[in-house]
Amino acid sequence: MTDEKIPLAAVIGSPIAHSRSPQLHRHWLGVYGLRGYYIPIDVAPDDLERVIRFMPQMGFVGCNITIPYKEKVLAIADQITDRATLIGAANTLIFRKDGLIMADNTDGYGFIENLRQGAPDWDAKTTTAVVMGAGGAARAVVAALADAGVPQILLTNRTRVRADKLKDDFGKRLQVHDWVQAGNIIEDANLIVNTTSLGMVGKAELRVPLDALRPGMIVTDLVYTPLKTRLLAEAEAAGCTTVDGLGMLLHQAVPCFERWFGQRPVVDAATRAAALR
Ligand code: NAP
Repeated sequence: MTDEKIPLAAVIGSPIAHSRSPQLHRHWLGVYGLRGYYIPIDVAPDDLERVIRFMPQMGFVGCNITIPYKEKVLAIADQITDRATLIGAANTLIFRKDGLIMADNTDGYGFIENLRQGAPDWDAKTTTAVVMGAGGAARAVVAALADAGVPQILLTNRTRVRADKLKDDFGKRLQVHDWVQAGNIIEDANLIVNTTSLGMVGKAELRVPLDALRPGMIVTDLVYTPLKTRLLAEAEAAGCTTVDGLGMLLHQAVPCFERWFGQRPVVDAATRAAALR
C-alpha cells in the first residue's frame, strides 16, 4: 500500500464535450503506464473561480483552459508566465505545491513544434509569414514566430483595429494589412497561417483568393475540423507543403502532460489516431 496521491488533471471550458484533450491525455497515460486521470469539466461562468480554487484540494495538479475562459483565468491566477502575459490568455493552469496557481500558455509552443514536425526544412530566419486573424490564437502564433526569429510578419484581420493592437504589442517586425489585401500579401510570403475560425465546420468558409499559392510555400491552418480545410486542399493542389491544425493541439499538450504526470510524451501517428477517435 502507498499513500502516494494519484494526479488528476482536466480541461475546463463551456461547452467541453467536443474537446479532444481527454482522449489525448488518456492515450499517453496508457502508453507510458502512468497512474492519473484527465477529465473534461463544463463550468458555468459564475462558478469558474470557485471551481478552480477548489480543484487543488481535490487532488488536481493542473488543468487546461479552453473557450471561453482563456482570458478570464488570468484574473484568477496568482502568477502568470511572460508568454501568457504577452499573449493575454492562458491555456494551462498549474496548481503548485505551495498553493499558488500559475497560468501559462503553450499554444505558441504547440504551433512551432507542429510546424517543425510537419515541415522539417522550415527556416525561421528566412521566413516572411502571412498571419490571417488577430484573435487569441493569432497572438500566440505571432509571439511564437517572433520568438523563433521570423523577421517579417504580415498580419491581416477583418477588424483592422484588432490587428493594429497586435502591432502595438509586437513592434516593427509586424506589418498590418487590410483584410481585402489578404490574397495579395500571400505573394510576398513563404509561410501562410490561418488563425481565424473561418473554414471550421459550422462556420463560414475562408474566401481569401489563393491564386498566389505556389510550390515552396508552407501553409498551415489552426482549424482542424475538418482536418483538410479548403485552404489546405488548395495549398496541396498548388504544390505547397501543408501542415494541419491537429498537430498544434497535440504539441501544446506535451509540456502540460510532462508537468502533471512526469513523462515527456512523444507526438506520433498513434497520438493523432487517439485524438481523432
Ligand atoms: P477568437 O479570439 O474568437 O478570434 C477569431 C478570429 O477569427 C478573429 O481574427 C476574427 O476576426 C476571425 N473571424 C471570425 N469570423 C470571421 C469572419 N466571418 N470573417 C473574417 N474573420 C473572421 O478565436 P481564437 O481563440 O483566436 O481561435 C481562432 C481559431 O483557431 C478557432 O477556430 C480555434 O478553434 C483555432 N485554434 C486552434 C488551436 C489548435 O491547437 N489547432 C489552438 C487555438 C485555437 P475579427 O477580429 O474581425 O472578429
